[in-house]
Amino acid sequence: MKVLLVVIDAASPRVVGPAVQTGRLPVLQRLADAGAMHRAISIFPSITPAATSSIITGEYPSRSGITGASWYDEARGEVAYYGDDFWVVAREGFGSFVRDFLVRLNGDRLTAPTLFELVERGGGRRAACLNYLVYRGVHEHRARVPTPLAFLPGVPRTQTIHGPSTFCLGDFVATHTVRGRKLKDKGGLFHRFGMDDASTGALLCQLAEDRALPDFTVAYFADNDYRSHEVGPHGALPVLERVDRMLGDAFEAAGGLESFLEETCVIVTSDHGHCEILPEEEQAVIRLDQLLQEFQQATFGRPWQAADDVMLCPNMRAAQIYVQSPTVVRVGAIVRRLLSEPRVDQVLWCRRLTSSELPGYAVATSRGRLEFWRADAGATPRAHDEFGTKWTWQGDPAVLGLELEGGVLCAPDYPNLFERIAGALDSRNSGEIWVTAKPGCEFEVPGGTAHVGGASHGALHTLDSDSLLIVSGPPGLLDTRQPFRSVDVAPLCAKLLGVPVRYGVGDPRV
Ligand SMILES: [Zn+2]
Repeated sequence: MKVLLVVIDAASPRVVGPAVQTGRLPVLQRLADAGAMHRAISIFPSITPAATSSIITGEYPSRSGITGASWYDEARGEVAYYGDDFWVVAREGFGSFVRDFLVRLNGDRLTAPTLFELVERGGGRRAACLNYLVYRGVHEHRARVPTPLAFLPGVPRTQTIHGPSTFCLGDFVATHTVRGRKLKDKGGLFHRFGMDDASTGALLCQLAEDRALPDFTVAYFADNDYRSHEVGPHGALPVLERVDRMLGDAFEAAGGLESFLEETCVIVTSDHGHCEILPEEEQAVIRLDQLLQEFQQATFGRPWQAADDVMLCPNMRAAQIYVQSPTVVRVGAIVRRLLSEPRVDQVLWCRRLTSSELPGYAVATSRGRLEFWRADAGATPRAHDEFGTKWTWQGDPAVLGLELEGGVLCAPDYPNLFERIAGALDSRNSGEIWVTAKPGCEFEVPGGTAHVGGASHGALHTLDSDSLLIVSGPPGLLDTRQPFRSVDVAPLCAKLLGVPVRYGVGDPRV
């Protein structure tokens, strides 16, 4: 069986579900009718670079190595900064864009194998990447830096990168051309160098028409996220309608959806959701640098200086705070200061920082503190999460809105909370402290701009975390009575393709 994985950035079930029901997304409706529509729980932080890495590797940031949109790369002594929108990096200068994105994100910063690598490593099977940002594969390609950029200082003309055998990355790499449509016209500065939806749609259509779709194809549509940030997820529905039409065109080009589905399973998902941001800046924006002004802050994007206490790495509705020399006293003081801001939702850190080398995690909210850890063999587990991991805790679970339903831990507003917190805090590059904003609010640091009156994401809340999932494939492939996570997408694809991976769909993560 072949697999076509369509990733529509930030497509939310609460927008797509009603639109499918009212006939506004007829192609997604046909796909859902031919299979099942469900939801996927994103990782934390629910932000594009980390979440798209988790989809293609099946791993949390603790193993994928991509710890958000910005983090401190301790080995290099520098800040890895991708923005949510990696074109922020483009604005920072194309030299750093080529180095940070083309070379490092898909190089040694990504510490888990991608499905592109797993599918093509053994030979025999082929994979294609259409504009997906996390593309690492086993085939060498020459990325050509588009002419207007190549003349900028510090920008190499070409760069050797590794991707799948069929690899289209905007104006940078193209192993499959779009005949008669002159993709070049769709590229350039105003179309994110050929990495917008129109380009991905045209490439997919051409591959389908040529009957050239390999065993595994990922097609990435980014525009919905950009528009949702501006006008909110509901206002961005016309972008989803356009993607729907482009998918329809591709299936028609392949000879019709029914025959296409005979040999290909289509999975449509997204990397995260979107949470509406309040229209008044005073209410919406939490200036993290001002909130923590009593602590000496490292200059954003610069390495530590001896006198620095903290380094702030914003991830939109979440932020990580690195603490130089993190003593119990200093961490406690930062946590208290963060909680003094009523728009802060949760403050998270590893328990060992404040409870003398104990394993596990701590969460504080305005309602109190909860510490939790994985129950070892022999220990009495207090409860399982929805995926079967046993946890135990100290403190009042109501602090996080946690409920016990038949012995299973649930937090309706914060899905799969414990595992996702662990998946971020266990990362080698994680900040000592993470902080999330209440719905309606977003963190801002100098140089960044919050999405006031629009929407944003990054936090643990269900609005940020709820992602689309439609699976059109063999009957019984997806059990919609069971919860599903973004990290289950790769195991699902691998199962269909017969490729061995570390975890199965729905397995507890350790
Ligand atoms: Zn995204």
